[in-house]
Amino acid sequence: MDATPSPALDASGSPPLFDDNRSVDYLQLALAAAGMGTWDWDPQTDNVRACARARALFGLEAGPRQWSEILERIHPADRAATAARVVTALENDRDYLDEYRVICPDGNTRWLSARGRVHHDAGGAARLHGVVVDITERKEHEAELERLARKAQEHAEELQAVLDNAPVAIWIAHDPECRRITGNTYAEKTLMHVPPDTNVSLSAPPEERRNDFSIWRDGRPLDLAELPAQRAAFRGEMVEDEILEFRFADGRRVHVMQNAVPLFDADNRIRGAVTIGADITSLRHTEAALRESEKRFRLMADASPAPIWLADASGSTTFVNRAYREFFGVDLSRPPTPENWQALVHPDDLPGYAATVARALEQRSTFAATVRVRRTDGEWRWVASYAAPVLDEQGQLTAMVGMSPDITEIKRAEEVLKSEALRLEELVRQRTSRLQESLAEMEAFSYNISHDMRAPLRAIHSFARFLDQEYGATLPPSARDYLARILAASARMDRLIQDVLVYSRSARTELKLEPVSLSRLMRTLFDAYPHLREASAEFAIAEDLPTVLGNDAALLQCFANVIGNAVKFVAPGQVPRIEVWAEIADGRAMVFVRDHGIGIPLAAQPRIFDMFYRAHPAYDGTGIGLAVTKKSIERMGGTIGVVSAPGHGSTFCFALPLAP
Ligand code: ADP
Repeated sequence: MDATPSPALDASGSPPLFDDNRSVDYLQLALAAAGMGTWDWDPQTDNVRACARARALFGLEAGPRQWSEILERIHPADRAATAARVVTALENDRDYLDEYRVICPDGNTRWLSARGRVHHDAGGAARLHGVVVDITERKEHEAELERLARKAQEHAEELQAVLDNAPVAIWIAHDPECRRITGNTYAEKTLMHVPPDTNVSLSAPPEERRNDFSIWRDGRPLDLAELPAQRAAFRGEMVEDEILEFRFADGRRVHVMQNAVPLFDADNRIRGAVTIGADITSLRHTEAALRESEKRFRLMADASPAPIWLADASGSTTFVNRAYREFFGVDLSRPPTPENWQALVHPDDLPGYAATVARALEQRSTFAATVRVRRTDGEWRWVASYAAPVLDEQGQLTAMVGMSPDITEIKRAEEVLKSEALRLEELVRQRTSRLQESLAEMEAFSYNISHDMRAPLRAIHSFARFLDQEYGATLPPSARDYLARILAASARMDRLIQDVLVYSRSARTELKLEPVSLSRLMRTLFDAYPHLREASAEFAIAEDLPTVLGNDAALLQCFANVIGNAVKFVAPGQVPRIEVWAEIADGRAMVFVRDHGIGIPLAAQPRIFDMFYRAHPAYDGTGIGLAVTKKSIERMGGTIGVVSAPGHGSTFCFALPLAP
């Protein structure tokens, strides 16, 4: 070495331990052992002398060096600070201490630690000398430690975030005796309603122990040693899914499902425990409500007198009520399969019924079917099977619920009723035909009687007329009056008989229906009934009367009756005015006959179609014409009605089917 550093002083600045050369030996040994280099800088000459180790650390060649060469080796980021520290040390005559990076010629960076001290040469000029050592490894360890500390900090923050936000209670027992247990935010605030950092341990020292809650299991207070945290921390147990009840002094009861695990220290000794608890109170309430609803359903189902069943989506029976069990003598002890119920159905009905059930399951639809089934006593009975699908929120079939009441008796009653109805129908048919026969006989009889009565009547009338003609002049006035009355009465009697004959004929004769042009019918009316023409009335008959479906002769008589009345019922001396027109409404011909005569009192209007009813006895008539008309019109599928105001005339309306 071309420059031996000045003998180093003892770190405490004390004189050397030995006064011989051993001190220098020891020092050199120590420097070598520590890997330390020594250096010396004379700012006056800018001569840096460094030992081989120091030169190696800076990557410098042998021989005297300059301060600027050293500075060049120092990492640019550390250079200025290092230069400043050296200047400060020199100026203030103080020790110099520094750590910096150097960049070696091989490109590697290493950390060095330098220590220096100012001393003055004989001339008083200040020089700096010191030691330098490679601290790269320590720096790397420090950096690694820093990285690990940062990582640990991040983990701690993540864990804290989990603890603060997890919707479950997390308790940490900080000692194996569980004397101190604290919880996360959820445990403290949501579940236990306690301030943060509260010691919730039930085995805490008495002065710290809480007494505002207790923990129960299966309806009994739990022994301290049996608490999950204690079991994990005392006995090293892993506790899984233990359901406990927290009973608070304020009356709250919370069901908590707990899991607990022990915590170990570096020597694998238990140092505490972590317990996690989920609040399952609402779940328990829902379960209880579900159980209650299930119980109610079973009660209702069992109270039903009709068999009720539930089947799953494959058609296998999963529930039957009491009536079902009693009716079929089966229970659900066997695993549910569709064959279970299929065995109960009559072989002839099974294919159709099974297809109906399969279709309903596939289409998720209701079904109703009647089917024969074997009752527990072996008898085949009819049941009406009704079922409806049960769908989940996605619309998937989860079950089919059905009811199958026994309808055998109803079926039998129906059959009896059916045969009874048939028998009655036959009876009615026979009686009707007998009645029709006797009616026909009666009608024929009365027709004949009426007809036969005309002969003696005509004789009375004729002989009275002869008497009047031949001896009238010789008779006293009173006798002639009697004769006139006989003549009038017999004539009236004859008209009555004739009208009755018309009525019974119209009721008895078959009415053949055919298209009838009402315009043509009106033209023939005056030829068939000349007295209408002679009545010197005014007629206004519409040209475009429709063609209806009816009987020509009967229609002619009906219109003759109504128009005859219109001509007849006018005030004395009044010229009758009659209008006839038609409209089509609702596919029917509405034919109107209107007069301007004396009209019909309101109270009489509903009765004028009755046989023999006459609203105006002062006028000639028999009260049969409108009865005949109504009967005929109805037999032709039509109706007749009237609107009238006394003193203002009447309007008769015929509603008749139109000709096709
Ligand atoms: P009649 O033989 O008396 O004409 P109808 O059966 O034809 O018998 O009529 C019954 C009664 O209805 C008549 O007696 C009359 O009082 C009343 N009537 C029928 N048509 C008219 C009419 N156009 N104007 C006033 N009254 C009428």
